[in-house]
Amino acid sequence: MELLLRFEKCQLSYDSWLTWMFHHRLLYKWTHKWHHEWSTPVALSSMYNHPLDQLIGNILPVSIGLALTNSHFFTQWLWFTWSAMRSLNDHSGYRLFAFPSPVRHDFHHQKSTECFAVWAWGPLDYLHGTDKVFRAKIAAGELSH
Ligand SMILES: [Zn+2]
Ligand SMILES: [Zn+2]
Repeated sequence: MELLLRFEKCQLSYDSWLTWMFHHRLLYKWTHKWHHEWSTPVALSSMYNHPLDQLIGNILPVSIGLALTNSHFFTQWLWFTWSAMRSLNDHSGYRLFAFPSPVRHDFHHQKSTECFAVWAWGPLDYLHGTDKVFRAKIAAGELSH
């Protein structure tokens, strides 16, 4: 379990910065814009990505912790299954048991300059000031978390 939490930290850090990187004007138009064609939540849109975005922005952050620890096959299977389910949930539009609310990523699809962190993990967005509008809408009661 501790190992999975380390993978989680590793993925969350890299994924947030990589998502931000794919929003740079020179990359976004050619890569990540594909994923943002979906402005409303549909679970399968989590896998609708430009190949570069899929490889560098999605597979690399999920795999880096496994590569660094040379983990057991079962651990890898468990981690990839969890990551895929989490990504599907983030794009489902539903608040499902055992998963955090997808409202943060829904907001990212609506306002592509906000909430780069995956899942409900937002410290990096807080540090970079990339969730100010999101937090203001939560505080005003316009969004429920
Ligand atoms: Zn998305
Ligand atoms: Zn995005």
